[in-house]
Amino acid sequence: MNDAPITEARAAYEAARAAERAAVQGHAYVDGTYMPLADASIPIVERGFLRSDVTYDAIHVWQGRIFRLTDHIARFRASIAGLRMSLPHTDAEIAEILIECTRRQGLRDAFLMLICTRGMPHPGSRDPRMSRNRLYAYAQPFVRIATEAQQQTGLKMILAHTQRIASAALDQRIKNFHWLDLTMSLFEAFDRGAEVTVLPTADGAVTEGPGFNVFLVKNGVLATPNHNMFEGITRRTVTEIAADLQVTCEIRRIRAEELAEADEIFISSTAGGIAPVTNFDGRPVGTGRPGPLTTRLTDIYWQRHADPAFSTAIDFAPTT
Ligand code: PLP
Repeated sequence: MNDAPITEARAAYEAARAAERAAVQGHAYVDGTYMPLADASIPIVERGFLRSDVTYDAIHVWQGRIFRLTDHIARFRASIAGLRMSLPHTDAEIAEILIECTRRQGLRDAFLMLICTRGMPHPGSRDPRMSRNRLYAYAQPFVRIATEAQQQTGLKMILAHTQRIASAALDQRIKNFHWLDLTMSLFEAFDRGAEVTVLPTADGAVTEGPGFNVFLVKNGVLATPNHNMFEGITRRTVTEIAADLQVTCEIRRIRAEELAEADEIFISSTAGGIAPVTNFDGRPVGTGRPGPLTTRLTDIYWQRHADPAFSTAIDFAPTT
């Protein structure tokens, strides 16, 4: 028996394990305790892990300022209430936990997560009401869906065959980790030479993609879906900027075929803001280059990050 290939594969596996740990940068808060992100973990029997009985919110810090902190905490609270969970923390305490994680990891551009899980199962019981809900949070380096290069050239998107989990089964306004429809749709994209997906409902309406909302532009009018998707804060920001620019933005049911005929398509997410889509289902969108309205909205979106009406400065001086 020749074990050499197995030994090599095992050595590569162990090296990858060590590299993964070394690559984790950031700081976490785990149910009352701060720690390096590499040390943060969730008990294997936690319902948040075993049942995906969890909600979360993703937030970002840009040039030392947290974007729309109050709106994110309000949305996190709504998700928690939607899953019939509760936390004893005040909004100010939640904000301070996020800020402390950011301060400890020290980066001026960061990606923050707030997570509320159902918690540990009560011994001998499967009753979710018996669990103490837990708060987790962390700050890590800023995360983007589109790379710098994709931001310039635009993303390649496909309409996935995989349907978005129906809001009738799981209200998609509650931020959730039932991500397998989104994740498996990405394999469809990779198999078809694309990078991102948008998922339909059973009756062919556009919903959203893995970690982002979707907009199209047709004849100068913006449109974004109104149903079976998460109501993104970046999406809200885009609609507000459009109103300021006196650009009509329709929030309505969008048929999948409309994307194929759009002049511009873009995605919106906390993870990188607005990113152009220049190829849809293998065909160029409009000119095949990022469109003028997409570029204008992107510029204003980033300008808003310095505006105290939309962002909160972090004091990076250590608290202790
Ligand atoms: N849709 C899904 C499924 C998401 O996970 C996200 C990301 O956070 C969004 C939309 C965009 O929401 P936001 O703009 O608040 O980041």
